[in-house]
Amino acid sequence: MDTPPKAKGRARASWDEYFMNIAREVSTRSTCDRKFVGAVIVRDRSILATGYNGSIRGLPHCDEEGHLMEEGHCVRTVHAEANAIVQAARNGVRIDGSSIYVTASPCWGCFRLIANAGIARVAFGEFYRDPRIFDVAVKLGIELVDMSKSAAASPAASS
Ligand SMILES: [Zn+2]
Ligand SMILES: [Zn+2]
Repeated sequence: MDTPPKAKGRARASWDEYFMNIAREVSTRSTCDRKFVGAVIVRDRSILATGYNGSIRGLPHCDEEGHLMEEGHCVRTVHAEANAIVQAARNGVRIDGSSIYVTASPCWGCFRLIANAGIARVAFGEFYRDPRIFDVAVKLGIELVDMSKSAAASPAASS
């Protein structure tokens, strides 16, 4: 098939870029301005669940009541990755063997959830705060992809 004329000269987003762009869009729903984070869980190039960091359902948000600080971190919110996993659970969606796209690398708590949820690949848009994830991911066989280092030339998500 011929390439449609309008598509010529335009860089088509790779699958990794496509899903990370969606994760960035999801992050705009976040309610804690200390860090806006979005997450998208994907398998076979289909979105299974999304999440952003926000308060427990039904409780006030940081942008309404202020942060709930504990040891330098806001603990009011459920993190984006956790909310995406919870969304899958609420809807009965199997996420074993999936990939997760997160705008910031998982904290230790979310990383543990990701590992036990059976998520096989974690692509993140920027490094956030916990370097323990790198060693442990190798031990567990979880692929970590730092997309801040491969902005233009990331391989397509084939799984
Ligand atoms: Zn907050
Ligand atoms: Zn987290």
